Amino acid sequence: MKNVVRHVGGHRWNGVPVLNYKEEGTHFKAISRQILFEGGPKLGAELRYFEIEPGGHSTLERHDHIHSVMVIRGRGHCLVGDTIYEITGNDLISVPTMTWHQFRATTPEPLGFLCLVNIERDRPERPDEANVATLQALPEVGEFIRL
Ligand code: MN
Repeated sequence: MKNVVRHVGGHRWNGVPVLNYKEEGTHFKAISRQILFEGGPKLGAELRYFEIEPGGHSTLERHDHIHSVMVIRGRGHCLVGDTIYEITGNDLISVPTMTWHQFRATTPEPLGFLCLVNIERDRPERPDEANVATLQALPEVGEFIRL
């Protein structure tokens, strides 16, 4: 059997291209995406590796599907719901359904994390003006979020 075990070194894997985080947009910064396991019907899930360079961030968004995240490189912070969390290696982060979330690489090292999602998932929703105002009124969240 081919490709049972794959690894190039560091956070790179054979047959796993380093992709743009999303097709387009200015609502994220300095983040790459690698699809480690594309799942398929027998698994039903997809495992991705995201890496954010220092100063970068993921999109501030929410959606019906959930994220199960594990940090495997560096440190940073994330918003989940109305709270900012400091995150570091081996931390597990659960992003519930329809919950605002954003990851930021807030230290001089990249922030890398695995993210498990259902294969069938809805499109993320970005905050409208009213959502932004609500988030900005929360302690710490206002200064944290990047739009
Ligand atoms: Mn998301």
